Amino acid sequence: MTVSRLQGIAPTIFGVMSTLAARTGAVNLGQGFPDVDGPPEVVAAAVGALHGGHNQYAPGPGVPALREAVAAHQERHYGLRLDPATDVVVTTGATEAIAAALLGLVEPGDPVVVLEPYYDSYVAMIQMAGGVRRPVTLRAPDFRLDLAALRAAAGGARFLLLNSPHNPTGTVLTGEELAAVAQVAVEHDLTVITDEVYEHLTYDVPHLPLATLPGMHERTLTLSSIGKSFSFTGWKVGWATGPADLVAAVLAAKQWLTYTSGAPLQPAAAYALSEADAYPRRLAASLRERRDLLCAGLNAAGLPTRAPQGTYFAVSDIRGLGWPDGLSFCRALPERAGVVGIPLQGFYDSDEGRHLVRWAFCKRPEVLEAGLERLAAADLTYGR
Ligand code: PMP
Ligand code: GLN
Repeated sequence: MTVSRLQGIAPTIFGVMSTLAARTGAVNLGQGFPDVDGPPEVVAAAVGALHGGHNQYAPGPGVPALREAVAAHQERHYGLRLDPATDVVVTTGATEAIAAALLGLVEPGDPVVVLEPYYDSYVAMIQMAGGVRRPVTLRAPDFRLDLAALRAAAGGARFLLLNSPHNPTGTVLTGEELAAVAQVAVEHDLTVITDEVYEHLTYDVPHLPLATLPGMHERTLTLSSIGKSFSFTGWKVGWATGPADLVAAVLAAKQWLTYTSGAPLQPAAAYALSEADAYPRRLAASLRERRDLLCAGLNAAGLPTRAPQGTYFAVSDIRGLGWPDGLSFCRALPERAGVVGIPLQGFYDSDEGRHLVRWAFCKRPEVLEAGLERLAAADLTYGR
């Protein structure tokens, strides 16, 4: 019965694997959500808003306090100057920002260049918007951007959907790589949608928004959300920022998706952005330690894994274990070892990701240790 716009799009692997973890009691190192909530004072701000009469529809573009806080955040961190009235729209998580950007900008048949492995909602939403994806593969083991491949894919394209820090590989694009991306975007007159939800989660490398590069502000829509930076993934408060014409296109689609959401959470998100700036820094420092814990344990368990520069995901190469692919490995893993991970193969058009599995390290150290102990104790080789 499902429409052709959704044909070939499997149920989201994150939901599938979390359901499997819940059913089997496995340690869930799959879906990316922390197991400790964000700052209590931000929760208190939400409670205050619930008791303070913020329970009816928020304005469609978002409550003014949050739009102002987002604009101030972009200026404080990156020197980007935005008019909160026209250059910021609040969305239902970055997920709705992605959906509304693609639905509001992409014409049927438009080629959209996108980094592969991709975040799964990109594929679904490019297809629902009628666009045609043109993957540019970040190749294992170092997952760097192949500029020649980007240039080749950009010919005749209208859009580039970028993601840095990149889920699932953890790649953070360097200043030189971003300068090259900017050059390609200008040369081919691309509009860029850049998903920066992991903007504060980098380890020893800076995150540079593409919009800060010369010639890029006017062609770049930047997306982010409260979920990853403040450990409130369930709040689904996000935003799109950029020049007024691009933001207006997001709002044009967004008003017919949810119109508005999270009225009491929006003032609390504004509070987080303006008053709890130290939290993402502390979170990144703690995640850096957990990254090292997880990667060391995975390597010791026979799962070669490189430490990522950003996000809270690490990717292992499982070829040495003899499995036909990562999906069969991940399906068997709860029973074999009592652990859940995410196979990467569904995030590629090609076969490149068949041997890759992603683990989330945004869990408490004792949970990571429990998962690692289980992996170390189990026989992970195929066919036992
Ligand atoms: N983009 C990427 C790359 C993600 O990993 C996620 C998951 N947080 C999202 C977008 C969706 O963000 P949100 O939960 O704010 O909708
Ligand atoms: N962004 C999270 C991840 O990559 C989960 C998102 C989701 O469940 N849709 O794991």
